[in-house]
Amino acid sequence: MAGDDDEIRELATALRAHAAWETELSGSGWPVVAAPVSGRRGAVDALIAAVTADDIAPKAAASVAAVRPVAPIAPVTPAQGPIVVPTGERAVVLAALAEQASDCTRCARHASRTRGVFARGNPDATLVFVGEGPSADDDRAGEPFAGPAGELLDKMIGAMGFARDAVYLCQVMKCRSATARSASPAEAAACEPFYVAQLEALRPKVIVALGRGAAEALGGANTERGDWRGIWSAWRGVPLIATHAPAEVLRSAELKRPVWSDLQAVMAKLGVSR
Ligand code: SF4
Repeated sequence: MAGDDDEIRELATALRAHAAWETELSGSGWPVVAAPVSGRRGAVDALIAAVTADDIAPKAAASVAAVRPVAPIAPVTPAQGPIVVPTGERAVVLAALAEQASDCTRCARHASRTRGVFARGNPDATLVFVGEGPSADDDRAGEPFAGPAGELLDKMIGAMGFARDAVYLCQVMKCRSATARSASPAEAAACEPFYVAQLEALRPKVIVALGRGAAEALGGANTERGDWRGIWSAWRGVPLIATHAPAEVLRSAELKRPVWSDLQAVMAKLGVSR
């Protein structure tokens, strides 16, 4: 709708301006709320405040306050519980986060991306799949799970009884590594605010981590015992299970059976039968 489009454009412009302004001040490049906000804008700012409270250097925040009056939203702590973004508002919040990620230079991966890869699918989905990071196919397409791995994942999703666009797909890292390696600790920490805010906005009924890297990032792997696949845990209160990534299944057909077993467990959790 025209009104929503205007609002999204206005929001994106404001976020870009804030990011540029913070960068000028040697800050993190993240927006700081500059005026009392409400409604959709408030939801974006609350999410960002929640996940970047430790990320914005106090010195930078102080210098920002000295230059311009700031009325920051109080950071949301875990004790305050999850951030609930109303249905219908999620698309706007996620569009703002995607816009930020596309301009992000917080880690070295920005230099090797063709475009940022944020997500595809339904922002109001009950089921969210999270991979580790963009492949070369994803980087070219600007969408997660493109190419043969994505085609296989779409088939798996169809076998579960879901339409391709009924679920939501995203990844922990938003930019491709030029060498297709796992994220370094510094890269993972730099990108964490994006996927935390993204998943907080979504808060689906189930999250499926695709691959060990995604499982570890979301805390769904027991690194001491080496367990990570087919085990239920939770990400910030949302049921989480991990299984093999579709690219792994393409390489090793024997993984199809355990993956299907894990997806059946997801169907049972969601009350979906085939
Ligand atoms: S991978 Fe994440 S932190 Fe690094 S540049 Fe891309 S969006 Fe920013």
